[in-house]
Amino acid sequence: MAVIRLRSRMHIWRHRTYNRWADLRARAAGYCNHAPWHPIPGQGGGYAHWRCALRAGHTGVHRSRNYVWDRTGRTTYRPLPAGQNLPDQPWRRSMTPTAAQERARGRWLDEQLSARAVHRTRNAS
Ligand SMILES: [Zn+2]
Repeated sequence: MAVIRLRSRMHIWRHRTYNRWADLRARAAGYCNHAPWHPIPGQGGGYAHWRCALRAGHTGVHRSRNYVWDRTGRTTYRPLPAGQNLPDQPWRRSMTPTAAQERARGRWLDEQLSARAVHRTRNAS
């Protein structure tokens, strides 16, 4: 069991490291690199591996291929006309959330469980 857990942690560590490296390269190459995804359900949108493929400092919505999103991360499918190049980055990210995102998600889950426990206690009496 410990070996499986260690392999999982190694997998996560490897993907996080690569994501950080790809994000660093993207910013250095002048990409906006904004990510729409948020670890708490109902906030943000899209997928954890999406990054804006427009140049840093662009105006309007963020875009990756045929999807756009605003600063809150709310995504919309807005395809470009056929034949037009789709904005994309050369580095593919994994879906592995960052450590900060994982912590935020853990805190949110703890809050949900606490609220549910309080609700059950009130309704039990
Ligand atoms: Zn952008």
